[in-house]
Amino acid sequence: MTAKPSTKSDYTKLTPILADWMKEVFADFAEISELFEKYNSPVNLHNLKPFGENYREFVNVLEKYQLQHTVYFARKANKCAAFCLEAKRLGFGVDTAGFNEVSECLELGIDASKLVLTAAIKEKRLIELAIKKDVLIIVDNLDEIAQIEKTAAGFGKNARVGVRIGGFEFAGETLYTRFGFTPERAFQLIIKDFAADFPHLKFQGLHFHLNGYSRSQRGAALVQTIELADRLKAVNIETKFIDIGGGFLVNYLENETEWRDFHKNLKAAVRGEREAVTFANDPLGMNLIEGKLHGEPKVYPYFNKTPRGLFFEEVLNYKNENGETSAELLRLREIELRLEPGRSLLDRTGMTAARVAFRKRDLNGDWLIGLEMNRTQMFSSSADFLLEPTIIYKEKPTSEDTEVSAFFVGAYCLEQEFLLKRKIELEKVPAVGDIVCFPNTAGYMMHFFESEAHLFDLAQNLIYSASKGKFIPDEIYSKGTK
Ligand SMILES: *Cc1c(COP(=O)(O)O)cnc(C)c1O
Repeated sequence: MTAKPSTKSDYTKLTPILADWMKEVFADFAEISELFEKYNSPVNLHNLKPFGENYREFVNVLEKYQLQHTVYFARKANKCAAFCLEAKRLGFGVDTAGFNEVSECLELGIDASKLVLTAAIKEKRLIELAIKKDVLIIVDNLDEIAQIEKTAAGFGKNARVGVRIGGFEFAGETLYTRFGFTPERAFQLIIKDFAADFPHLKFQGLHFHLNGYSRSQRGAALVQTIELADRLKAVNIETKFIDIGGGFLVNYLENETEWRDFHKNLKAAVRGEREAVTFANDPLGMNLIEGKLHGEPKVYPYFNKTPRGLFFEEVLNYKNENGETSAELLRLREIELRLEPGRSLLDRTGMTAARVAFRKRDLNGDWLIGLEMNRTQMFSSSADFLLEPTIIYKEKPTSEDTEVSAFFVGAYCLEQEFLLKRKIELEKVPAVGDIVCFPNTAGYMMHFFESEAHLFDLAQNLIYSASKGKFIPDEIYSKGTK
């Protein structure tokens, strides 16, 4: 592909929305620098304040629509115990996805009634723990239902269960999912099988969680789940709650124009009409076939106009065939609405930082900035992390310095170990020991895919302690406030 020369004006920044606490970190080189001396690993910095604000945004909507409700923080999106404790302090619940998540929450003193277990795989010890402690279990398939029945019967206890629903009808098609029971199958399961074969399972409510970020799909799923609750009601089975899972959008970016320009430039670059904006002109999941570009970049919608509360309201305002909104339907029936946001509760609560180890030019003449971290420490299922990092320079750039564009590379010994695929413009070449901060990584980015290959240490998770006025390890923070 013929490369065209870069001009300063055609670089598109993707300016992230930053929290005030992040800007305070950026302003103090000495303080953050010390953390690397102390922990010898990248650091994940967290501040819990926005977590409570994000929670409040959901509650404001729930109160506006006068809905009985419980919010559960989907804990799998971040490993830090501090968020579970904060949920406990603020009075909301935690959605758990495995044995360690459940047992840690219980050890932290979170009441079992504030937990929901949605694990995709429920091994024996997990089922035993959940039944012993009376944690609500969301069931997905008959094998685990049989295991729950057997375990509960063995303990002489009942198991409280919700049934996961999937396979909703939407726009003339069935939405595929590998999870749960279709509404029809769930109906039979609850009215027949539970009574006949699984007497120790006590049905409490219905649950779904949809892939992707469609508001209307969630609205349609909610309406169909309410219809199922009505069918159950007609045979005297009460649905106490409907849990609509997570997937509430986050808006990460300041500026829609930048987002549009980024797409325009990426597409032009992949078609060979301008200089590449990504390493090796990576199309980020689009396909170029005989000169024609197909698809859109497979990236999270980093810019969107309907984050969190607005997204949630659109789900609640979705209308059934009679023009009734799902909020009205729930309110009339006094069914409690539950939700399990993960990413959206973690918005602006975390960032990942690493030290610059080296700077060099590669064979193409591009700057490569080597960071003391690896790609799994800031990695998501999105084809690229599309937020401008902030460099904390020891020596601040001056008007004498010239801007450069660079790629960030990490510690795994792979050719493809590029931390960002996008080429980033910097005010100057950073020095060894300068610090690069990737903002807003707490939701999935920092923990979901991290690995310890090469025996590298995992990043240190630090939580801002207001009483101590500094960042302290999650283990210490969470012990101290238990
Ligand atoms: C992952 C998951 C969530 C959280 O999803 P987010 O996109 O982080 O809001 C909630 N519920 C279930 C069952 C999940 O699997």
